[in-house]
Amino acid sequence: MKALLIVDIQNDFLPNGALGVKEGDQVIPVINQLMKKDFDVIVASKDWHPQDHKSFAITHGKQPGEHVTLKGQDQILWPVHCVQDSTGAEFSSELDQSKVEKVFFKGTDKDIDSYSAFFDNEHLKSTGLGDYLKSKGVTDVYIAGLTTDYCVKYSVLDTVELGFKAHVIVDACRAVNLQEGDSEKALEVMRDAGAEIITAEKVLH
Ligand SMILES: [Zn+2]
Repeated sequence: MKALLIVDIQNDFLPNGALGVKEGDQVIPVINQLMKKDFDVIVASKDWHPQDHKSFAITHGKQPGEHVTLKGQDQILWPVHCVQDSTGAEFSSELDQSKVEKVFFKGTDKDIDSYSAFFDNEHLKSTGLGDYLKSKGVTDVYIAGLTTDYCVKYSVLDTVELGFKAHVIVDACRAVNLQEGDSEKALEVMRDAGAEIITAEKVLH
């Protein structure tokens, strides 16, 4: 059984969004095409933060890009983004949501960030995604979305850790690239963990 996991196609991660990702909008037509393929399960994640989330620089009176320690773990600080029920947290209107059967919310606890669609960054709480996919008999998870070097990467690593086969649809993802080469480094980490890196064309044909 094959699942497609669409990561964080939300307004704030698109060009002109609060945490806009270069070319982030370019993955949407690719993902819309992928959804026409015969996946058994199609799910999506949403970054979904309370207003005073501790991954926001302003919560600490700091600048985006500075670091703090949250629950013993290094946390890079971001601009305010994907606040619950805000326009920025909505899926892009370009995304065809008709085939998305369930949405999983992450980053809802103000005290800890959650890059992965499965767990927070300390693996303290699950979003329910892993159990949902297992209950559907999913063996293979195809992952697309934003961003290659954060939320896609950590979702892929958890996919592998949970015992699914992970397939990263590389041209249906874009990276933040805070440092040049972050995208390539992330792909290498995912490949080393056992994920397959493939193109949308290969999935579609
Ligand atoms: Zn976030």
